[in-house]
This record gives sequence, structure tokens and C-alpha cells, in this order.
Amino acid sequence: MQLPDALLASLQGLPGYHLAAFQQAHAAAAPVSVRLHPSKAGRLQLPLAGSVPWAQHGHYLQYRPSFAQDPAWHAGAYYVQEASSMAIEQAFLQHRPSGPLRVLDLCAAPGGKTTHLLSLLNTETDILVTNEVIQSRANILLENVLKWGIPAAIVTNNDPADLGRLTGTFDVLLVDAPCSGSGLFRRDAEAIKEWSPANVQLCSQRQQRILADVLPALKEDGVLIYATCSYSFEEDEHIADWLYQLSNWEPLSIEFPSDSGPVLSSSPRQGHPCYRFYPHHVQGEGFFLAAFRKKQSADTFRAKPARAAGVPEPLRREMSQWLLPSAPYQLYQHEQQLYAMPPAVIDFFQTTRQLLKVRRAGLLVGEWQRNGLQPDHALALSTWAHPDLPTSDVDDELARQYLRKEAIMPTGAAPGWSMVSWQGHRLGWMKNLGNRTNNYYPKEWRLRTGGD
Ligand code: SAM
Repeated sequence: MQLPDALLASLQGLPGYHLAAFQQAHAAAAPVSVRLHPSKAGRLQLPLAGSVPWAQHGHYLQYRPSFAQDPAWHAGAYYVQEASSMAIEQAFLQHRPSGPLRVLDLCAAPGGKTTHLLSLLNTETDILVTNEVIQSRANILLENVLKWGIPAAIVTNNDPADLGRLTGTFDVLLVDAPCSGSGLFRRDAEAIKEWSPANVQLCSQRQQRILADVLPALKEDGVLIYATCSYSFEEDEHIADWLYQLSNWEPLSIEFPSDSGPVLSSSPRQGHPCYRFYPHHVQGEGFFLAAFRKKQSADTFRAKPARAAGVPEPLRREMSQWLLPSAPYQLYQHEQQLYAMPPAVIDFFQTTRQLLKVRRAGLLVGEWQRNGLQPDHALALSTWAHPDLPTSDVDDELARQYLRKEAIMPTGAAPGWSMVSWQGHRLGWMKNLGNRTNNYYPKEWRLRTGGD
């Protein structure tokens, strides 16, 4: 792998950088890692190798299996994620404010850190607003949020400035900024072609714009977690220093298990603690992380919640047959669609839905039709699905046929709606009409032959 000379030269002198070790690490294969779902992981057939030291549910794999052929991956039992980026867990757990939290993941697609944060929240009281500015990438984010199945999320498709207008709203703000991407060169050598010193400068300016636009949304005493997958000083420590022009901050240190490898650096003017992840020090790719507590009062955005019509009693009764009885849900109806949301999600949604482009709030349970509820795919993958819903457990071959959206007829399938599951992992819906079944796996997600 030929790393750009200008990049190597620019890294000289940065804490933890050693040219020979860095180049040697780039000649080796990148480790493969996954993060397991805290409640849906169940039985897995993954070649687990060892734990990621800074993430409770993070594991390395011995080799890269064909994830697309693994029904558990489609069920949201785990997320394939680069290990270094799981380090946000420590920043979040060590510094989150107490009490019900409003968390914003501003640059969220495809959803690695969003699904991670969802696993760390108190999902009865906390909410996660997960945003992606690029529409096509917001679709991928939504897909991954649905697969993860934790209804504490609100998926939006907005500019950072739109969220910045919600002044003093969030307790935790994660900005995993778009960057020049040098940290991922080992996994994606093609990306080297896009790299240039000029692009590093452009990224640095864009990072400043994004932060300036969104920062008003952070509460006083709220925590900003800033991350990139770039090694470049201009996108990392320089940004940490620059942030002090926008606000007063308490610098936050992050502890990592000893010998796990993140290198402490500091921003030159403010001495702000920053953490560099290099492939010659950690079992993972290049990553940068810093955390800040805002020490400046912030205006508080207030708006009247929009009023929503109540959901009629017969519909409520029907919903209780589909949803986990202990789930703290409130129902919301939009035309034919029925949603279940934790109270904090519905509050946030009702106060902001006129201001934000909300792609999804909480759980879409299904569509109400003349002959009853047509359950949505999101319900099958949700942690809020009623555990007693009729389910057909299928073998490997039938599971893959189902994921390819072919018609399947499992033996003993209940009449009407039932879930298809594989080794206890729920994959989606089918409807048994007696002489045939309809496969309700979403067509845009279907498994193509071959796959990964
Ligand atoms: N957090 C994601 C994860 O863990 O899966 C990865 C995020 S990626 C590093 C940065 C994201 O920022 C991309 O999805 C990109 O589309 C988005 N982005 C690009 N330009 C942006 C802008 N001007 N403002 C906000 N986000 C932007």
C-alpha cells in the first residue's frame, strides 16, 4: 500500500506516530470486528476471537465471514463495526450527564455509532436524535436503525444549522465529522486517491462550519464528543483548540484500559486532552476522539407541542396484541399508520416535527387496513414486538429463501400473519393464506444471490 508522502510528512512529530511502525501496520490486514446487540444477539455462529477493550459488546473475529449470508446479521443481532470507533462508548459512559438524556448524533449514516449509542441509553427515558444530511445516506441510516430495533430513536434528515436552532436542547452531542478519511486507508485503499493536503484543509473548514452551526443545540453542562477517522492535525487537535473560540469548555479526559493502545495527545493552545488511535498501537483503524463539557449558558428552545388526535380504543386494544406488554409506549396515529413511541420520543417529536425533516420517530407498528393491522417490518425487528406473536422458526435454507423474498411454506405455519425466525432471530413477516404464503420481507432489502 502506497501511502501519500505528503500525509506521512505531515504526521511527523505527532504523539504516537512512528513512520516505520505505521507503514508496517498498513502492510498487514485490518482486523474484523462486530458489536453485538445487547438484547437481540442470542445464539450466533460468528468466529469470535476476543473482546474490544473499550466496548462491552465489541468483539474481534478470527476472519471475515460472509455477513450477507448470515440471517442473524439481517435480524440486527450484531453490527459490523470497526473497533477503534467503538471507543465513543468510554467518552459517553464516563461523562454523560445524569437523568433522562437527549442525545444528538449529528453525522450519523450509516449508523455504527447510532446503534452503539442506542445500546448504551436508558431506552425508557433517554432519546437519540440521529441525523444525516445526505438523503440517500439517511435511507441507509434508517434501515440500520430499524434493524437495531430500539424505539428510542428519531431519524432526521437535516442540515446541522436546522438542529442548531433547537437551542439548549441536547445533553450529549456526537459529531463524528466527515473527514479526509486517512484512518481508513488500510481497509479502503481506493480512498487514498481522494486524499490531498488541500482536501484536509477543506475538511477542517467544513468541520468548523458544522460545529459552529450545531453547537447552540448543546445545553449548558452538556457533553460534546468529537471524532474523526483522520490522522491530520488540522482536523483533530486544531479543531479541539478552535472550539474554544465558540464556547467555554471543561476539558474531559477519557480513561481506557491500560495497554489497550490509544495515545494521549493535547491541543497545543488549550492543552485539551485528545486521543489518537493508530493501527500500530491498537487493534483497529485510525481514529481521533475528544470530549468537552460546555460551560456556557445556552438559550433554551421552547415550542408548543403539536396536538395529535387520540388513538381510538379499539385500535389501542388491537395494538396491545402486537406490542410487548411491559413496553412504555404511547400510540400515535398518522393517517393509516400506527406508531408506538416512548413518552420522551413522542414529546420531542410533537415539539419539533414542524421544524425538522423527521424520517422516523419511534416504532412504526403497521398500517391499519379494513381487515386489521398490516404489521410493518420494523415491528418484527423491534425489541417491542410481543413475545407471543406466532412465529415459524426455519432452517438455514428456508431463511435465505425468505431473505431473497421467495415464497416459503414452513411446516406448521400459523394461519394469517406470523414471523419468520432463524435460530430465534426474527427476520420479518409472512402471511399464510392457506394455499400459499406471502413473503413480506422489504423488497429493497432483499438478499441478492451471491452477496457479500
Ligand atoms: N457516524 C457514522 C457511523 O458511525 O456510522 C459515520 C459518519 S461519517 C464519518 C460522516 C457523515 O457526515 C457522513 O454520513 C456524511 O454524509 C455526513 N456529512 C457530510 N457532509 C456533512 C455536512 N456538511 N454536515 C453534516 N454532515 C455531513
